[in-house]
Amino acid sequence: MNITQPLGDTLALIGNTPLVRLTGPSEAAGCDIWGKCEFANPGSSVKDRAALYMIRDAEARGELQPGGTVIEGTAGNTGIGIALVANALGYKTVIVMPDNQSKEKMDTLRALGARLVLVPPTKYADPAHFQHVSRRMAEETEGAIWAGQFDNVANRKAHIEGTAQELWVQTSGKIDGFTCAAGTGGTIAGVGMGLKEKNENIRIALTDPHGAALYNYYAHGELKSEGSSVAEGIGQGRITANLEDAPIDTQFRISDETGMIWVERLLREEGLCLGLSSGINVAGAIELGKQLVAEGRDNPQVATILCDTGFRYLSTLYNAEWLAAKGLPVFDWLAHEGGA
Ligand code: PMP
Repeated sequence: MNITQPLGDTLALIGNTPLVRLTGPSEAAGCDIWGKCEFANPGSSVKDRAALYMIRDAEARGELQPGGTVIEGTAGNTGIGIALVANALGYKTVIVMPDNQSKEKMDTLRALGARLVLVPPTKYADPAHFQHVSRRMAEETEGAIWAGQFDNVANRKAHIEGTAQELWVQTSGKIDGFTCAAGTGGTIAGVGMGLKEKNENIRIALTDPHGAALYNYYAHGELKSEGSSVAEGIGQGRITANLEDAPIDTQFRISDETGMIWVERLLREEGLCLGLSSGINVAGAIELGKQLVAEGRDNPQVATILCDTGFRYLSTLYNAEWLAAKGLPVFDWLAHEGGA
């Protein structure tokens, strides 16, 4: 980011996020691990990029007219991005969200002026699933579009044209590996495609949480999930349109416990307050770094995504009682406050 360059409007604040070397993860991997600071976007998550691209795409296709409404089903971060972009462009926002997501995300959406519709968390095959509810609402609402982030490839285009190009420039073309987890798959597919266009030898790895089906799909060709995860925003059970043709070379499976070790260490040792998907991504990046080192790649450089801010999870990941109830380790400084 060239901070000497003034920006013409607030939407130009989306993207061009900093890339930072992560000291502890680099030591653990034996090579440089870099984090793309997506929490630095105006909505504090990676999803601002997809929100902007999907809205601009709907405008370009003539589907979204002045004063129209953007409706979306989301775990929260996409909704926050959409609400900010929609406010800046004069659209209304309706967000359908499973009611097991963090309270901070719900409060944030309401504060941004979005109409929030909470639904019980169900399987994708259920017509009551948040994605189907949001699609039906858009069909029934005059002047509304459905953003449809899972199968709307404007989502991954944001990463082909944005995130991947930024990573290439920020590493001066010396990047050997990239990994992250998938929610819609827009980030992994888009960054993977954008980087492979630059250099086929950049290894693209999927980092999957437990409870998702993609690890088995890329490892054995079978969509099958095992276990579960409390990480919000990641964990996909199907090949979304964004994931089609994603250039995935290898895959890792990371537990919540391992992800939480890095959430805690990055906070305690490096002053970064992140969500659990970031911790899982960093653990995956360490695996990828170790793999490249073991193969003898010269001074490998590995990048991952720091997806959103931990301030979005104060009532969950940073709450001793919640952590104990989920069977996750409680940081000692949280435990000392008396929760567990
Ligand atoms: N982390 C968090 C916290 C998210 O909200 C999301 C988006 N759902 C992701 C990671 C995954 O991003 P993508 O949808 O591009 O796969």
